[in-house]
Amino acid sequence: MSKRRVPYNVILLSVDAVAKPDADSFLNLPSFKYFTERGCFTDNVETVYPTITYPIHSSAITGKYPCNHGIAHNEPWQPDVNDKMRKWHWAVKDIGTRTLWHAAAEKKLSVASLLWPVSGKAGGIINWDFPEVLPLPGEIPVIKMMQYASKLWLAKTEILYSKHRAGMKRCDLDDYMALLCEKLIAGRNFPDLLTVHFADTDDTRHNEGVGTEADRAAILRMDRRVGRLIDAVKKRGIEDRTVFVVMSDHGQQNVTEGYIPLDSTLCGAGIGRAQSVGLGAFIYPEDEEKAFSFLTAHKDELHIKYILTREDLKKIHAPADVHLAVQAEQGYGYVDRNCECDHLGDHGFGLEALEARTLLWLAGGPFNKGMRFGGARIVDIAPTIADILGLSMPDCDGRVLTETYKTTIN
Ligand SMILES: [Zn+2]
Repeated sequence: MSKRRVPYNVILLSVDAVAKPDADSFLNLPSFKYFTERGCFTDNVETVYPTITYPIHSSAITGKYPCNHGIAHNEPWQPDVNDKMRKWHWAVKDIGTRTLWHAAAEKKLSVASLLWPVSGKAGGIINWDFPEVLPLPGEIPVIKMMQYASKLWLAKTEILYSKHRAGMKRCDLDDYMALLCEKLIAGRNFPDLLTVHFADTDDTRHNEGVGTEADRAAILRMDRRVGRLIDAVKKRGIEDRTVFVVMSDHGQQNVTEGYIPLDSTLCGAGIGRAQSVGLGAFIYPEDEEKAFSFLTAHKDELHIKYILTREDLKKIHAPADVHLAVQAEQGYGYVDRNCECDHLGDHGFGLEALEARTLLWLAGGPFNKGMRFGGARIVDIAPTIADILGLSMPDCDGRVLTETYKTTIN
């Protein structure tokens, strides 16, 4: 084995779209039990606003709130582009600050990242990069991927393993990521830092709703994938030095009443535009005061639970260019102009929702065994991993979760 520079290697694993209401079922899953027994667990992690995937994952990987990392939404705002044709934040340069990957690369640690949001075109930072990139209609997935991934490695994996990829649905891609994780872990130079994002549960909940048979099946599939990673670590003989940080980003709620065309309504009334975040929306007004009055006057018919003013948004570290926002009443969501949404489950709820309390396991290495702790924030994840790997991330909004350590490691 090659000479290691750090005492631990870290696997940061993100399970999309599960949260506090799912804690009991996850604690009883055979593979997740491994983390619970081996480490610390909380179901009380404060996620960030907006409660959508890319801002949250960017906070996890930078240790900063959206106001400081600049990823406001999954997509840059493209108000007049059909939602099927919109670009997302696929390249790491979209994040306006240093990430854990940068800090690891500076210390010459080896880094792999699989389907992690906003991780594309990360040459020189991520050694093995298979970023989350969605081909737009008419684009060929592998060619699109070649522009964003680690090209040589991608070409090699496509030749060797793509026959094992059952299809391009998210559950198939997640299975394929589990296979690539196994191969990376089994390799002679396994990564010092591996970040991997599984989103089968998110996809299934959007399409089928929360608490359905399909949802339960997706959770079991997730457990099997996680089990494959654990087995790969055991097989490679690196169980003692492997730290698992397992996070979730947000839960989902069922959309029982449907989606309100808020953007069209604001547009029609000459108030401005809205950008849906699922169960809420950012408002880009012509005039802030006028928009506030309009939203207040039409609160009932637009099914607005509450309005977030510039001051409210500042307090929750919202993206800097969002000055007005709304949250929908339970069961409702918002849809952009000329777009349709038939999701049965969604997120984008306010931070007060139980589904905005997410799950975190910190297992192996310096962490206490079998401990429950009171809570954390998504922004605490990067500084804690940086501390374990001896990396420098001095400007994080989060802190090192030292209360979970069994001994001082520095
Ligand atoms: Zn998500």
